[in-house]
Amino acid sequence: MYIIMLGAPGSGKGTLAKELSKEYNLVHISTGDIFRENIKKQTELGKEADKYISNGLLVPDEITIGLVKSRLSEDDVKSGAILDGFPRTAKQAEELDMFIRKNNPINTVAVLLDIPDEDLIKRVVKRVTCSNKECGAIYNTEFRPSKVPGICDICGSKLVKRDDDNEETVRGRLKIYHDNSKEIIKYYEDKNILFTVKPNIYSPTVLEENISKVKGYLETHK
Ligand code: ADP
Ligand code: ZN
Repeated sequence: MYIIMLGAPGSGKGTLAKELSKEYNLVHISTGDIFRENIKKQTELGKEADKYISNGLLVPDEITIGLVKSRLSEDDVKSGAILDGFPRTAKQAEELDMFIRKNNPINTVAVLLDIPDEDLIKRVVKRVTCSNKECGAIYNTEFRPSKVPGICDICGSKLVKRDDDNEETVRGRLKIYHDNSKEIIKYYEDKNILFTVKPNIYSPTVLEENISKVKGYLETHK
């Protein structure tokens, strides 16, 4: 099964994707993580991607689509994967669909986390991530704080703020998100494989609620 996670920056789709990946034993592929890893290692891909990411822009389709196709061709994702951050444009959605149909035609569902923009902005500016790549836990200093400020509950590593998590960049990213997502959401709606979750982000158990909603949907759409 392929699970495609849709939702604006800060919607919690990364956290939900991680949990679903454990639940269904599917590899979690996050294009944002792949780009950040490459930027850190200063690879050619990283240097190129950084030009766009640091300006709050999408990495061009030519780069992103090739990257995802080659990742999806690896052995560990033969039974499917959770795609987080991809597709982000209509072109990416079409290319992904063609790739799946041609190479690995298994069940595909899209999960959309639908949250109002103003709530998202509050969430993203207060987001911190575990600096330990193996862990990658995500916290929010207001809504989902770690027990000890600045320290990961799970692995004890330092929590860091992403460079692109500031209000100005976030508003820009939300605009880009809305401009592109309309088409993508419609694309999966038309295919009848879209499941929309409206999370209550003020609930302390929002993650568990989201997981159980998605599980419920998947039970009936195998
Ligand atoms: P967020 O969900 O907060 O935007 P991500 O970690 O998903 O963060 O992505 C970080 C950045 O990487 C994006 O703002 C964008 O510049 C780039 N990026 C990630 N995925 C894609 C994609 N599918 N297409 C184009 N650019 C992407
Ligand atoms: Zn950690």
